[in-house]
Amino acid sequence: MIDVNRQGEVWVFAEQHNGKLEETPLELMSKGRHLADTLGVKLAALLLGNNVKDLATKLIHNGADKVYLAEHPLLAHYQANSYAKIIYDLVHKYKPQIAIFGATVAGRDLAPRIASSTKAGLTADCTDLQIGDHKTTDGQLHKNLLFQIRPAFGGNIIATIINYDRWPQMATVREGVMPMPIPDISRKGQIIEEKFQLSQTDLALQIIEEHTRPKKVDLKAARLIVAGGAGVGSKDNFRLIWDLANCLGAAPAATRAAVDLGFIDHDHQVGQTGTTVRPSLYIAVGISGAIQHQAGMSQSQKIVAINNDPQAPIFDVAHYKIVGDLNEVLPKMIKAIKEKGFKEPALAGK
Ligand SMILES: Cc1cc2nc3c(=O)[nH]c(=O)nc-3n(C[C@H](O)[C@H](O)[C@H](O)COP(=O)(O)OP(=O)(O)OC[C@H]3O[C@@H](n4cnc5c(N)ncnc54)[C@H](O)[C@@H]3O)c2cc1C
Repeated sequence: MIDVNRQGEVWVFAEQHNGKLEETPLELMSKGRHLADTLGVKLAALLLGNNVKDLATKLIHNGADKVYLAEHPLLAHYQANSYAKIIYDLVHKYKPQIAIFGATVAGRDLAPRIASSTKAGLTADCTDLQIGDHKTTDGQLHKNLLFQIRPAFGGNIIATIINYDRWPQMATVREGVMPMPIPDISRKGQIIEEKFQLSQTDLALQIIEEHTRPKKVDLKAARLIVAGGAGVGSKDNFRLIWDLANCLGAAPAATRAAVDLGFIDHDHQVGQTGTTVRPSLYIAVGISGAIQHQAGMSQSQKIVAINNDPQAPIFDVAHYKIVGDLNEVLPKMIKAIKEKGFKEPALAGK
């Protein structure tokens, strides 16, 4: 735990793999910039790796005032021990007030280790972060705290979590929930090269080779998505979802129920424990619209829902509602699109 430091910076962990920045840290830069501006402090990115200095400029163009750069051949691949050791030391050296990480595999591994070793609090899987004041029950007013906002109790409530005394205030943030910043190549910033000791004994693993299975679908980048739910009925019938997706040039997606039933692979899952998407058009077929599913798709620009239950909650977020049996509606849609073509809705400011 570090002392409450009102002048402390806002930090973003700039996760990179093989010298390529992930999308999530860039998304966090836009939120980090907003938080830092609200607090009137600097935004800094933490960049760890080997031969990754080039990425520092990209981080500055995307909003960082400073980049703390830790380069070493042993940091070439993410490993919890070495990364946590370096960030722990940096936290004690610079005393940031906020540190945010992507809720990625690495971020979910790393952030709790740093929170635990610094005895700070951590809110996992936030969907929003804001700055606000809070009065404790003893009447004390704590100004400018990080409001760490996330769904709780299975998504049935949205909780705002604060941490007024165990700093830095730490959070992991879901992928895809923050907009990407618009890079400004005229931005200037400071790159601070950190000196540190690291040896193989600090690492639990010696990585000999890395093999990555590419994701079968990039839902985050998809402009059009056709998603099927348990209502589709079977893996065979899920062919209707693929057919509609194919004739629209859309990505096929699914609910967790459809994934659990084996209709499609988990890479296609949208929602709280899947991918968060914001396409220009999201067609939800045989999907009830559970809060955990809505968490991943409600920011789509246009939502079309097809369901035979007029009371299905998906209709609460849909812009176009088709009450009917998907086995009748989908073949008609596919036929009409094949005959008349399809005009994609414009994507406003993704
Ligand atoms: C911690 C947690 C995390 C979760 N994470 C996710 C997540 O990431 N993503 C996710 O999707 N879910 C998630 N869930 C599960 C979620 O709560 C729901 O169970 C799930 O979204 C339901 O999927 P569904 O809509 O496909 O199925 P159902 O709720 O069973 O809905 C099927 C729908 O199909 C309609 N239907 C049936 N037959 C037809 C037909 N012939 N024509 C038209 N409509 C028809 C029905 O009216 C119904 O509305 C999570 C749950 C928990 C507890």
